[in-house]
Amino acid sequence: MANHKAKLFVFSAPSGSGKTTIVRDVLKNFPDFVFSISATTRKKRSNEKNGIDYFFINEEEFKQKIEAGEFVEWEKFYDYYYGTLKSFVDGMLEKGISTVYEVDVKGALRIKKKYSNSVLIFIAPPSIEELNKRLINRNTETDDDLNKRIERAEMELSFKDKFDYVVSNIDLAHAKTEVKRIIEKELTKE
Ligand code: 5GP
Repeated sequence: MANHKAKLFVFSAPSGSGKTTIVRDVLKNFPDFVFSISATTRKKRSNEKNGIDYFFINEEEFKQKIEAGEFVEWEKFYDYYYGTLKSFVDGMLEKGISTVYEVDVKGALRIKKKYSNSVLIFIAPPSIEELNKRLINRNTETDDDLNKRIERAEMELSFKDKFDYVVSNIDLAHAKTEVKRIIEKELTKE
């Protein structure tokens, strides 16, 4: 791969937009990249692993980390906390390793404010109706959580113009190719 300065590739999307699938594809296509594992107080889903998908910690531990200034950014939603760990980001940057983030829209904007070498990519669902259908099919949330996520999706969509790139996930294969092209282009920039 050509020499490049490490970048932060930050992905945001309403949940159910296919963001996780796209991020996995990025990590496969760019094996030198490392995924930023956030800390969260949300319960682990059956398909998730501690220390791989998230660091699952309790609220007390999370609050201690906030106090200690250990987060680049953090958010509380759906009654759970989520945060990007500063030690991780800085450690990778020092080694010249590009990192990949899956955070909410506000978190993405905060990362960009602190790290100007961030590239913000918004994955847009075809429509709110389609998103609704995908979330119901995924069947990982309770009805209450599902409704909260849909309300939140509408808010997140209103932020998309603040991102460097918006990729519509109407067709997954197409979206993956577009994201790959964006990253390749960004890596050739100073
Ligand atoms: P989920 O519970 O579906 O894994 O994630 C819910 C939301 O939290 C998603 O929008 C996800 O991108 C976001 N998220 C995950 N980690 C972080 C983080 O460290 N910071 C922020 N701000 N959002 C995060």
